[in-house]
This record gives sequence, C-alpha cells and structure tokens, in this order.
Amino acid sequence: MDEIRIKLETELREAIGRLRQLGGGITAEELPGAIGDNSPCADEVDEIQANESRELGFVTRTMLVERVNRIADALERLSEGDYGVCVECGETIAPARLRALPEVQTCIRCQDRLERLERRMETVGALFGDTEEEI
Ligand SMILES: [Zn+2]
Repeated sequence: MDEIRIKLETELREAIGRLRQLGGGITAEELPGAIGDNSPCADEVDEIQANESRELGFVTRTMLVERVNRIADALERLSEGDYGVCVECGETIAPARLRALPEVQTCIRCQDRLERLERRMETVGALFGDTEEEI
C-alpha cells in the first residue's frame, strides 16, 4: 500500500503545482483535508489575459481542484484503512484498476452504473431545461 500512497502524494503535489501555475490562490475551502498550505499565490493575474484563455483556465482549474480533492480523499481513505473499497457497494476494487487510477472510489461495475445514470440525468436535464445540480 505504500507504493500507492507515494503515487497519490506525487499526483497530489503535481496537481497542486499545476493549480499554482494557473494562478490564483488555493483556498482551504477548495482543498479540504489536503496539504495544509493555503498561502495565496504571489503571481498577479495579468490584465492582458484574454477572456477566452481565462475561461479555459477556469475549466482546467475546476478539473484540477476536483482531482486534488479526489486524491486527498483517497489518501484519507488510505490512512483510515478504507482504501480500495468501493464507496457504492462496499466491494473490493480490482487492484489493476487502482494502479491505473489510484484515486478511484468505485468499482468498475458501480462506475458503469453511475455513468449511465449521469447520462440519463443529462438527457432529463436537456428535456426539462437547465437542472444541473451540485452533487
Ligand atoms: Zn461498487
């Protein structure tokens, strides 16, 4: 399991490093349970930054924040001994899957089910207008 911890920690640092490069401080709120370093980034956001790239940056940033949270979560589960167990059904997640995606929280079956559910919700959302929800 040590190998996985090292891998997760490396990925966590990488993701945080990339967040820093994107600019803007990382708040403790965004990174619950993550490394306790929330010092604001010294880099000022350039005024010349075009709206387009700012929007792109925002999307990338959101994805990175989600990733950091997932990894931090996985690390927490690792230290609590819950790591490698599917949060949906409680089954053990296949080791190969964990090696490929160390931050996953669901087994492949549940992932499949959730993705199908998500697609269905998207369809429903498209039918009834914007009903995007925070989960
Ligand atoms: Zn499962």
